[in-house]
Amino acid sequence: MEGEKKCPPLFVEGEKIDMSELVTIQPDFTRAQTARSRRSQSGNGPAVYIRTYGCQMNVSDTQTIETLLADDGYQFVDAPEHADIVLVNTCMIRETAEVRALGQLANLSALKKKNPHLVIGIIGCIAQAKRKEILEEQPYIDLVVGPDAYRKLPVLLEERLISPPGTPGLLETTLLREELYDEIVPHHQGGITAFVTVIRGCDKFCTFCVVPRTRGRERSRPLPSILREVESLVSQGVKDVTLLGQNVDSYRWEDRDFAECLKAVAQVDGLKRVRFMTSHPADISERLLDVMGTVDKICPFLHLPVQSGSNRVLDLMNRPYTRERYLGIVKTAREKVPGIALSTDVIVGFPTESDDEFQMTLDLVQEVGYDSAFMFKYSARPLTKAERLRDDIPEILKAERLGRLIELQQENSHRQNEAQLGKQTSILIEGISPKDAAMWTGRTPDFRPVVVSRNGESIGDEIPVQLRELIGFTFRGERINR
Ligand code: SF4
Repeated sequence: MEGEKKCPPLFVEGEKIDMSELVTIQPDFTRAQTARSRRSQSGNGPAVYIRTYGCQMNVSDTQTIETLLADDGYQFVDAPEHADIVLVNTCMIRETAEVRALGQLANLSALKKKNPHLVIGIIGCIAQAKRKEILEEQPYIDLVVGPDAYRKLPVLLEERLISPPGTPGLLETTLLREELYDEIVPHHQGGITAFVTVIRGCDKFCTFCVVPRTRGRERSRPLPSILREVESLVSQGVKDVTLLGQNVDSYRWEDRDFAECLKAVAQVDGLKRVRFMTSHPADISERLLDVMGTVDKICPFLHLPVQSGSNRVLDLMNRPYTRERYLGIVKTAREKVPGIALSTDVIVGFPTESDDEFQMTLDLVQEVGYDSAFMFKYSARPLTKAERLRDDIPEILKAERLGRLIELQQENSHRQNEAQLGKQTSILIEGISPKDAAMWTGRTPDFRPVVVSRNGESIGDEIPVQLRELIGFTFRGERINR
């Protein structure tokens, strides 16, 4: 194909970097451990600031890192200017996320000039994929750590803290088939909602997506460990849990699939709601939809990325389903889970996408009538198979297609919301409305935001409401007796 480039090699489990290519050193673990135990006796840990970009998986990873560091005596601050250590948890699934994360580095470089002892670490997906470039191009970076190496962060950070300014950066980006951060139960940061990772990595290799190469292959967490984490969260006040995975439908532990995992989580005493994301149309099962339709605590909300309405483009994307199969799943979901809200991801302007194929996407989006959608212009991501395709759709045409899609989806969302007016449902109270202290803010089971007058309830209460008015995308509800 015209414009074809050589495909970069896959990263494989346990891959070792050729350290001779890099300006890096191995940490002196003994020296770092000694400094660490000396510090833990004094009780005054270094101050850490973590900036997180990207998806909920990154948010969840940051909580794991905070737990690891807190257990080691580190403290957390809310501004990089007050920190001894700044960690940037990066995302590269979209070009915009990557640009934002890398943009942060310019500010950190200026901070490092003012404070040469500041330790700066790049972690997450960009760290994994661009490990060499980061240390070569940004020599002031102290640490580059991939998503499977966070367990080593305490000792790597300790090594940096005791190294003189100017010491070459450390690199740890080995991908492991077994790393699950399994027995680490994250400290909850407050609030009644929490994310719990059930599966890490992805085996799907969609041609546009870098995730399998930055987060490695699929690994499911043992169910008992998931349940322990949910029980711990509930004991800390959590009422609503979102189970996370790049493809939750691939979950397998012993002979349990995701439907059984979801059902088991819903049985945890004290938990009021459970939801999950993300599903894959090739793997989602009727059993899962059955469980969603029959277990009360499971929210009637399904995020089911379609990506394109054209079978030819889906094939190019390595998405192993057709638009007909996708529409069939939507039909079954609506039969089995009455009132289910649907959301999706769509990419416009994938290489070679014709006007007619884009129109097929518009038609599908119109036919499904999604409640919400994440919509993006295609941009080639490093290390993906689609990077070898010529990105032949002009930016102006991609922008025009995206604009048309967003306009259509806004109409869909508005129509779906208007159809809810007058409905009796419930909300789980999440907090006081930032716009009006006399109102609570909460969500319906199908994830619609609602404000309602405060009347002696508490955060975490689930109360019956009638949806009375729509202000933008937020409902104004009224408490009812049921
Ligand atoms: S299913 Fe596809 S888009 Fe989703 S994480 Fe896996 S490779 Fe990426």
